[in-house]
Amino acid sequence: MRLVRTIAETRDTLEALRTGTIGLVPTMGALHEGHLSLLRAARDECDTVVMSLFVNPAQFREGADLQSYPRDEERDLELARAEGVDLVFAPSVEEMYPPGFQTWVDVTELGSILEGQFRPGHFRGVATIVLKLFTVVRPTRAYFGQKDAQQVEVIRRMIRDLALEVELRVLPVVRDEDGLALSSRNALLSADERQRALALSRALGTRDRDAALALLTAANGLKVDYVEVADFDPPTLAGAVRVGSTRLIDNVPLEGEEQ
Ligand code: AMP
Repeated sequence: MRLVRTIAETRDTLEALRTGTIGLVPTMGALHEGHLSLLRAARDECDTVVMSLFVNPAQFREGADLQSYPRDEERDLELARAEGVDLVFAPSVEEMYPPGFQTWVDVTELGSILEGQFRPGHFRGVATIVLKLFTVVRPTRAYFGQKDAQQVEVIRRMIRDLALEVELRVLPVVRDEDGLALSSRNALLSADERQRALALSRALGTRDRDAALALLTAANGLKVDYVEVADFDPPTLAGAVRVGSTRLIDNVPLEGEEQ
């Protein structure tokens, strides 16, 4: 496995591999089984697997949230190696946002509802960095988790709108045994907060917006940002809550097989 910090070296390394398929798995690190499920799918389906590892400042609005985001590069590299990743692209902030950076991708409508209402500018940061990763890696396929359902919609829209030549692959939400959706942010929860956070997956599991909202409103120690049926593909019951200083999101698709 090769660790690369620059765009130029990534392009050089991939040059000789372009006769085969290239799978890209974008991550912000602090890897867990959710990320690993994407790496495994990419390993199954592609000749070359690239994982990006970049905590993207542009998708964080609050400095404190960015500062407290869990980071452990050494552990992430070990896990990536064990999953058979060929190349990890782990650039600096300056590499991705050179001085004077001012070019943004804004998926205007999809980026401003639900998560976008509570995190203005978040999806602008996401779309911009994902497009940049696409142009650096030029993957055949890119792998994303249904855990971030709105992110998937935003990226799908961007691919269509800008006629990007990449196949979007979406993998189901990976959960702990008790139902909590895996998230890098779960590491920030105390034992007590983690217990309270279980209400989110339980509420969404009703697959009924009003029942979910009632359960969450009655739950102790949670602040509900929203619970809504989103007009995604497929329609999705999505929710976001705050537990202490940690914000958690989750969703269940309302059509297709129950996960
Ligand atoms: P992140 O590092 O949080 O930006 O996530 C990187 C990718 O992993 C995104 O496509 C996420 O949707 C996906 N992901 C995160 N958590 C999960 C999960 N519990 N199940 C499936 N995919 C996930």
